[in-house]
Amino acid sequence: MQAPRKPTTIVAAARPDADPAYAGIVPPLWASDTFRWDDADTKPTYDYARTVSPNRDLLCEALCELEGAAGGVVTNSGQSAALLALLLLPAGALVVAPQDCYGGTYRLIAGLEEQGKLRAHFVDMLDDAAFDAALAETPAMVWLETPSNPLLRITDIAKRASAARAAGALVVADNTLPTPCRQKPLDLGCDLVMHSTTKALNGHADLFGGALLAREEELVERLRWWSNAAGLNGSAQDAWQTLRGLRTLPLRIDRLEASAARIAAWLDERAEVLQVNYPGLPSHPDYALAARQQSGPGFMISFRLKDADAVAGFLSRLRLISLASSLGGFATLICKPATMTHRGMPPEAQAKAGIHPDLLRVSVGLEDADDLIADLSQALEGCRSQASG
Ligand SMILES: *Cc1c(COP(=O)(O)O)cnc(C)c1O
Repeated sequence: MQAPRKPTTIVAAARPDADPAYAGIVPPLWASDTFRWDDADTKPTYDYARTVSPNRDLLCEALCELEGAAGGVVTNSGQSAALLALLLLPAGALVVAPQDCYGGTYRLIAGLEEQGKLRAHFVDMLDDAAFDAALAETPAMVWLETPSNPLLRITDIAKRASAARAAGALVVADNTLPTPCRQKPLDLGCDLVMHSTTKALNGHADLFGGALLAREEELVERLRWWSNAAGLNGSAQDAWQTLRGLRTLPLRIDRLEASAARIAAWLDERAEVLQVNYPGLPSHPDYALAARQQSGPGFMISFRLKDADAVAGFLSRLRLISLASSLGGFATLICKPATMTHRGMPPEAQAKAGIHPDLLRVSVGLEDADDLIADLSQALEGCRSQASG
C-alpha cells in the first residue's frame, strides 16, 4: 500500500487531469444543471446536478482523502450536513450531543426534539459518569465536537467513539474547528465526519457550504440517497470555489495557528484578562489530551476580561479586528458567543455549558500577529484608562 499523501500535496494535486476538453490544470466549472444521455436506457454518470455534480465530486474526493473517508456528500451549508446526518435516524431516536456544541447544531437538534422527531440528551462530554449514563439509554447517534466552541475543551474522541459504537450508536464528529490538517476523527473511530466548509476549508469568507463524509461505503450510499431526496447538495459554483480555497488550507492553518499561539500567550500575561482558553497553553485543563489527539492547537481562542463591564468598550475600540461571527477565514474576527453565535441556546443551557455572558471568542486570521497584538493592546489600554477615569 502507498503511504498516505500529505495535506499540502492532496490539495495541490486535486485533479489537473479533470479538463477533458482543453487540458487546463484547473478543473472547469460545470455549471450545467442537467447532462445529455446517449440513449434513454443508459443512465450516464452525471444526469442531474442536484443528484450528482462533477464539481462536487472533485471537492468531495479531496476532502475524503484529507479525512481518510470512503466517500461522502458536499452539502449547501454546515447545517445541511448536520441535518443530513440526523436524517439517517428513525423517528424518536435518541441523539446524545455535547451541551456546549455549536449553537446552530444545538438549535437544530433541540428543534427536532420539540417537534417529537427525535429525542435529545445534551451532556458534558468530559464527564465520564454523565456520558456513560447517556449511553445506557442506547442512543442511535452520538455527536462529538472537539475542540468545543467557544470554550475549546477537548473530548477524547477515541475513548468516546469506541464506547458509543459498542453501545450501537453511530458516531459523528464535527471537525470544522480543527480541520483535517489537525485532527482525523475517522482514524480515531468515528463513523462520520462533518464540516462547515464555510469556515477554514474555503477560508475566504465568501460562500456557504458543508460536507458529511463516511468511513464506510455502506453509509456513503445512504448519505447520497438522503441528500438527493432532500435536496441538500451544494451548488457546482460553491464546490468549484471551495476547492480553490482548499488549495491553501494547510498553509493557512500553519500561519493561523502560529499567530493564535502567540496571541494566546500574550493575552495570558495581561493584567486585564481573567482567563484564556487555548489548547496550546500548558495551563489549559486538556493540554495533554490536545497534544496527543491533535497535531496542533488550532486558531481559535476564547477569553474573559476581569472587568465584565469593560467588554463593550473593549470591542468598540478594536480597529483591525472585526466584531462578527464565523471563523476560520482570512480576517481576524471577535465575537461574544452568548449574544451572537450561541443565541439559539437558552440562557440556562448557556450557563450549564459554561458560556459566560461576557466570554469573548477570537478566530485568528492571516494578518501579521504583531499588528493583531497591537490592536488588542490599544483596546485593552482603553479598558484601564476607563476603569481609572
Ligand atoms: C459554522 C459552523 C457550523 C454550521 O455551518 P454553516 O456553514 O454556517 O451552516 C457547524 N459547526 C461548526 C463548528 C461551525 O463553526
